[in-house]
Amino acid sequence: MKLSPQDLDICCGHQKSETAEPSSVSQPISTPIHQTSLFSFDRFEDLSHGLANEFTTPVYSRGRNPSMTSVEQKLAALEQGEACKLFASGMGAISAAISALVSQGDHILFVNQVYGPTIQLATQLARFGVSFTCITSGDIAEAEQAIQPNTKLIWFESPGTMTFTQLDIKALVAVAKAHGILTGIDNTWATPLLQKPITMGVDIVAHSLTKYIGGHSDVVAGALITRETLLKDIFFKTFLLNGAAIGPMDAYLIERGLRTLPVRLAQHETNGLAVAHFLQEHEKVAQVFHPALQPALSVPEDQLSGFTGLFSFTLKQPSYSAVSDVMNALKHFRMGVSWGGFESLAISPQRPQNAQALVEAGLPQGLIRLSVGLESADTLINDLSQALSHAQ
Ligand SMILES: *Cc1c(COP(=O)(O)O)cnc(C)c1O
Repeated sequence: MKLSPQDLDICCGHQKSETAEPSSVSQPISTPIHQTSLFSFDRFEDLSHGLANEFTTPVYSRGRNPSMTSVEQKLAALEQGEACKLFASGMGAISAAISALVSQGDHILFVNQVYGPTIQLATQLARFGVSFTCITSGDIAEAEQAIQPNTKLIWFESPGTMTFTQLDIKALVAVAKAHGILTGIDNTWATPLLQKPITMGVDIVAHSLTKYIGGHSDVVAGALITRETLLKDIFFKTFLLNGAAIGPMDAYLIERGLRTLPVRLAQHETNGLAVAHFLQEHEKVAQVFHPALQPALSVPEDQLSGFTGLFSFTLKQPSYSAVSDVMNALKHFRMGVSWGGFESLAISPQRPQNAQALVEAGLPQGLIRLSVGLESADTLINDLSQALSHAQ
């Protein structure tokens, strides 16, 4: 092959400010996507300084990229926290936080129903000498009793995964502070629009942005919001080295999701409550697990400022075959993992042989979880009505 040097320069040369328009009287209304893996410097001194300050300077997109920065600033402001870091997934964020904060010999206390893979992560950390205990209810006294001298971190959810029971966040924080223990919450269900745990004293907030914040079932992403000193610690100990950095395109999709989050959440709440009230009256339904319908164990009324469309219910006939009959009869609801998108989804933790495992996890038999989407509530209620008629 023979190529001309000029052609090589045209194809591969980099012109500074290649994308900038000469005129500065107009700006893009949407945040530009900085689809770049690295940032180049004019002066060696600036590169050296950037390398020593990767937390604040774009040097390499595994660390920092301006497409992340604008979303991070928005999420930190929404949570009323000092600083935010985006991740390639919710589990990327959770595992970076937990593995940065605990060391060999430390103990983690999980309170309330916590996302399954978070507990699986703790099981893996046992290989590194980290132990853990799960309290599957939101009972603060029970949680306090489970604290050990080496408990380093209390990690919890409210509302909890699968059964959506709340716990008194300020009361749990008070217990943790009295013992000098850090607290972290997975705030994915509520989003920062409906619950702001940092204002209640929680140290670290984690999100799967894959759910309501992304909102369109087209992106997997996560975030941590905490004090800048703590975030810097996580940044250097795990974020940069584990490599779960979000791509610029995905960061853009998260920012786009944020723009419609308030209107989408309002519709999820309305639809979710309509479906939950319908189920509560249904003869085949034993219980509806929706934070609006379950008075929690003495939780302050203003802890949550609204509801979303994710909740669950149990069948009066809680066998695997009854769950399977209802699931298979659904026509509009699709079956699938994840939640928080525009579309309505159903799933159940029930398997043919896992009754004992459900008991151990503190979960009821015959449970079906719904992610109520943005469609017409009548369509969703009619679909559930015909599907429930198949439960034997
Ligand atoms: C989905 C989810 C996660 C994990 O997030 P990914 O983006 O799937 O990694 C964590 N916590 C909760 C409550 C979730 O629903």
